[in-house]
Amino acid sequence: MKIPFSPPRIDEITIEEVKDTLLSGWITTGPKTQLFEQKLASYLGIDHVVCLNSATAGLQLIMHYLGIKEGDEVIVPSYTYCATANVVVQRGAKPVMVDINRDDFNINPQKVKEAINSNTKAIIAVDIAGFPCDYNSLIEIIQSPEILKLHTPNNSNQEKLGRIALISDAAHSIGANYKGVKTGNQADMSSFSFHAVKNLTTAEGGAVAFNLPKQFDTKKIKQLFKTLSLHGQTKDALSKNKAGGWEYDVVHAGYKCNMTDIQAAIGLVELNRYKETLEKREHIFRLYDTLLKDEEWAILPTYMNSDCTSSFHLYMLRIKDSKLEQRNTIIEKMAERGIAVNVHYKPLPLLSLYKSLNFNMENYPQALENYTHQISLPVYYNLSDDQVKFVAKNLNEVVEEVLA
Ligand SMILES: *Cc1c(COP(=O)(O)O)cnc(C)c1O
Repeated sequence: MKIPFSPPRIDEITIEEVKDTLLSGWITTGPKTQLFEQKLASYLGIDHVVCLNSATAGLQLIMHYLGIKEGDEVIVPSYTYCATANVVVQRGAKPVMVDINRDDFNINPQKVKEAINSNTKAIIAVDIAGFPCDYNSLIEIIQSPEILKLHTPNNSNQEKLGRIALISDAAHSIGANYKGVKTGNQADMSSFSFHAVKNLTTAEGGAVAFNLPKQFDTKKIKQLFKTLSLHGQTKDALSKNKAGGWEYDVVHAGYKCNMTDIQAAIGLVELNRYKETLEKREHIFRLYDTLLKDEEWAILPTYMNSDCTSSFHLYMLRIKDSKLEQRNTIIEKMAERGIAVNVHYKPLPLLSLYKSLNFNMENYPQALENYTHQISLPVYYNLSDDQVKFVAKNLNEVVEEVLA
């Protein structure tokens, strides 16, 4: 039996919807992207959502909008995918990394508080594995009088906000719940990913959900993001394509990161059946729990508590007492048995780029500890109960062999 890590769910329904787009005569940003944006907004319970070609592009536009620049600091977790911090480095600003919580791998609010100074312009929290961060604590911190006193805006958007911006890298967490409300409704702006390995895919893709305070006109900001995603040009390709509609202007040195209707077609199918996707993923998580809960070596992941429900993106297991080499051997031996398991993530201070920027892993003991033991198990829609049992059985054998 060969078990991949997370193949996408592509079937006749997806193929038909993409075919419909291909044959429609309109393949780039157009009616399907617009429809997907509306459906996403209604799913999230948010007024305005803009679709882009990735979550990274979303974070880049957010950094642009906030005017993050050299001399600014943006707080990020040390334990995340590189994109969260890369977008800060790209602006010439300084990512300030903080350590994580032991149980859920999310950013530690107390460490965030300690890292804030008058250069801090934003926090990018990441809902690791799809489990929402402690947003209330983060909001309380950025709104507390002692932290507000430190706020030093250096452009009109920062001034209008009047405090540190709270941004969510929600790449994993579409459909997750925080105190009864979907993710996308807690931070000022949230960026979701629809990359091929994510819960809801468009092959490549992403979306930004706006939840800025009421002094912001989010409808206008959505339009600004649209324009920024298409070179800063005032008219999109669809309107320009209409006979006689050639005239346009360029008002920003924009980016090129729009979503195409081919991507949106996949997304429309995915979103339409996303409830079923989440139910299946939850079922797999619970089955892994049942199969592993009595194993002495297993630290099961946190994916639900009284406040939060995960989007069940990654089953982030830990192997108690394993050394780094043992964890790596377990992954190799699983691969020999035809089972793809994974590590999420290599903490940023271990990456050459961040080493060269003087980040030192010793300063993030919890991230290092969690990483040393971490292993993610396959979760995808077409994974059967028998396959889940096969993964758990093989893992048990391999762990006992390696830790013996
Ligand atoms: C996948 C991922 C991203 C990047 O998403 P893209 O859509 O590929 O740009 C960012 N942050 C985290 C935590 C991710 O896992």
